[in-house]
Amino acid sequence: MERQFHSVTIQLAKGDITRQPDLDAVINAANAGLMPGGGVAGAIHRAAGAELEAACRPLAPIDPGSAVITPAFSLPNRHVIHCLGPVYGVDEPSDRLLTRCYERALDLAEEAKLGSLGFPAISTGAFAYPKRDAAAIALHVMVQRAPSLSAVRLIRFVLFSDDDLTIHREILAELG
Ligand code: ADP
Repeated sequence: MERQFHSVTIQLAKGDITRQPDLDAVINAANAGLMPGGGVAGAIHRAAGAELEAACRPLAPIDPGSAVITPAFSLPNRHVIHCLGPVYGVDEPSDRLLTRCYERALDLAEEAKLGSLGFPAISTGAFAYPKRDAAAIALHVMVQRAPSLSAVRLIRFVLFSDDDLTIHREILAELG
């Protein structure tokens, strides 16, 4: 499913964030230390290779709600944007922090003039953010920011499960 907002296409796909060769950048659901770990971060670091960990080391630690950009090394993309979402019930206000990390990712993409981005469902795995609330926040940020984006033209949510895809599809269908 996809929808157009101004000149930006928001697309939903089921898949693996490390296998999106047509995108300029993929977004990492990072941990504060920007280390491999599990989930998205583990998959991204495995696919990118040890150079990514070395590139991340001087940038860490980062705070919830922030993001940093690195090259993508062995991933089939140009860049990785590492976002630290809130740990649900711990990093507060969690809705503001989740909003901010998506906004920061867009800011970094615009600065680097990236045209296409792939986002996982940040904070909804190990960080336990309720999936529907997180999806609503993520999609709202994209729709709200679409009119002011000049480089970014394609935003793909790369979702791991049918359940996540359904939730995002329901919310995207109601937006705008
Ligand atoms: P966080 O620590 O921010 O919660 P996780 O990596 O634990 O991040 O999970 C975020 C979401 O990404 C979860 O919904 C998880 O199922 C999903 N996910 C895990 N691995 C991948 C992957 N390789 N590609 C896309 N999504 C993934």
